[in-house]
Amino acid sequence: MTGLPEREAAVLWPTYVRPQVEFVRGQGVRLWDSRGREYLDFLGGIAVVAAGHAHPRVVEAVTAQLGTLGHTSNLYFTGPQVELAERLVDRFGGDAKVFLSNSGAEANEAAIKVARRWGRASRGEDVTGVVAALGGFHGRTLATLAATGKPAMHPPFQPLPPGFTHVPFGDADALRAAVGPTTAAVLLEPIQGEAGIQVPPAGYLRAAREITAEAGVLLILDEIQSGMGRTGRFFAHQHEGVRPDVVTMAKALGSGYPIGATIATTEVADAMRPGDHGTTFGGNPVACAAALATLEVIEPLLGGHVDKVSARLADGLHELRGRLVGRSTWAPPRGDGDADDLLPGTEVRGAGLWYALDLGPEAPATAKQAALAALGRGLVVNPVTDTALRLAPPLVVTEEEVEEGLARLGAALEEVGLCR
Ligand code: PLP
Repeated sequence: MTGLPEREAAVLWPTYVRPQVEFVRGQGVRLWDSRGREYLDFLGGIAVVAAGHAHPRVVEAVTAQLGTLGHTSNLYFTGPQVELAERLVDRFGGDAKVFLSNSGAEANEAAIKVARRWGRASRGEDVTGVVAALGGFHGRTLATLAATGKPAMHPPFQPLPPGFTHVPFGDADALRAAVGPTTAAVLLEPIQGEAGIQVPPAGYLRAAREITAEAGVLLILDEIQSGMGRTGRFFAHQHEGVRPDVVTMAKALGSGYPIGATIATTEVADAMRPGDHGTTFGGNPVACAAALATLEVIEPLLGGHVDKVSARLADGLHELRGRLVGRSTWAPPRGDGDADDLLPGTEVRGAGLWYALDLGPEAPATAKQAALAALGRGLVVNPVTDTALRLAPPLVVTEEEVEEGLARLGAALEEVGLCR
């Protein structure tokens, strides 16, 4: 990649900090860089490449659609859009309608707009408020940034759209207290991805459903990272058996081909009128073909395959956690491997094929250093927080590939002094 960082610095906004690697090819769970080095991709383009790189079914569907009809705009009917919406409504449990867009932020924008439209129409002119969770991430447009519960991200871009409040994630009492007469919707991730794969206490989503139903408020679940089978069920909220009013999707929906979807119950969706919302590209035939092919690939993997490989990944991460060491003061008790032998503050969090290994506050190296060492050993993971590594491999990953990835991760953690 001779000269690429310098050329990039001259012509692209300085919004990304990237390691010194240029990927040029992908196949299944593997990537190759411009020097011909092979990597196991345990990040999948941030939980996007669920079907694996260059899956033949997806490549064929996209190529065939592009060669037939690439774009018409939303002024005209197109079959793939309706077919995809039918499939998504079915996964959602029926009696719903879909708005198709191009990204996660757009899917959440549409959710916020429909919530306000519905709130005004059904409960009154001032019913526009959205209660979201601290630590939650919903996108980088102005409204989704306002919904994002990371206050440090807000000041440079104020004034942000008003009407958003935040409560601690996982705290049902705080949520109940925050929902009031002007609340239109509660917006939550079932598991917070960008906060470091934070799993709420069991029953939290059910409590959120009860609180919102009692108050006549919409429950919007942002399944942009957690959906499309990432946790082993099509939607993460299915683990708790709740039915939200609105669900947003993007990331893995198109296997890397940009597409977002906002699914709302028919009653909520019908609050929108012609002209209330729209997009030039959203739901174009190629994006929909990519999504339909992706669904075909991943749906048979849910349950059986994902659960089996997930168990191996979780075991391996727990084993690595048991080998983590602290900066200086903490020495592992000579032990029998029980909980007391674990370095305090370390954690394995997640579900399905979506995990964080938290190295803890005592870690002698940062997650960023660990991720760079992993890259050097041919494993792509990312430092989702200062102390936690995120793993989100393609759902097609095999147990053998998980073993290989764990071995590369273990070697990387040893190299930077994090593991014994
Ligand atoms: N919501 C969640 C939960 C996400 O993880 C992300 C992206 O990381 C977004 C929304 C924003 O999606 P996009 O980057 O496609 O706009």
